[in-house]
Amino acid sequence: MKKELIFVLLFALLGITAQSALAASTPQAVPPASQLQDPGRTQQFIQLANGWMEGSTSTTDEQQLAQPDPDLVVYLTFDDGPDPKWTPQVLELLKQYHAIATFFEIGRNIRSYPEISLQVAEGGNTIGLHGYNHLDLTKLGYSDFYLEVVDTRAAIADALASNPQVEGALTPCLRPPYGAVNQDVYAYAAQMNYALSFWHIDTRDWSGVSPEEILDTVSANIAPYKVILMHDGGEKRENTLQGLELVLHELTLRGYTFGQYCTAYGQAYTP
Ligand SMILES: [Zn+2]
Repeated sequence: MKKELIFVLLFALLGITAQSALAASTPQAVPPASQLQDPGRTQQFIQLANGWMEGSTSTTDEQQLAQPDPDLVVYLTFDDGPDPKWTPQVLELLKQYHAIATFFEIGRNIRSYPEISLQVAEGGNTIGLHGYNHLDLTKLGYSDFYLEVVDTRAAIADALASNPQVEGALTPCLRPPYGAVNQDVYAYAAQMNYALSFWHIDTRDWSGVSPEEILDTVSANIAPYKVILMHDGGEKRENTLQGLELVLHELTLRGYTFGQYCTAYGQAYTP
């Protein structure tokens, strides 16, 4: 009888302990954005990942030396594609430098060249939205904004559908054409669970600047986590291609690596 009582008490105690442990580990509310984007937490994760890599018995010293410095990541982004002439050349350059990028594509271009969007994704890159008709979103009401987004998203999804391995290349990121935003655009994007994607370094490659000027703009402003804007769609992109090669060469020499600004999980934190 006594033994039974002890067991009952023990189980009751365990139950209470388990419940309070559960309560302690269950978030009371959605954490604030500042907590989600805490660089300290990112650093912790990187340290954990490094620890795991160091602990791996198959990792040689040489491989460890070759590990990229996670603090030197930068983000390349390309707007206005896909384009049958320029996009494959951009992809080839990225491949040569083991670089990846996020492409913000125009819906109607994707419908014209879905195979190019597929190539983008198969190169390990991700695809964000740049509207279906490249309209100034600040001029639209919600229903037109909604169509610009869902039609572009559907075009990307259709383009990637033939290769299930790259379906994850579609991202919930929207780069507003011309960078034009107002309170409505922010509200509409939030309503649709899209991140608005901007940039830090505008190479102005669309304006006819020389490849050297593109390099100078990037060199003068580059720092970890910076987002670089270039264009793989449009009329003349020879200077973009040459400028991109200079940028890839220079940044690689400086030890930078190229990360994914947007993934299926959302947009990278940029301090
Ligand atoms: Zn654009």
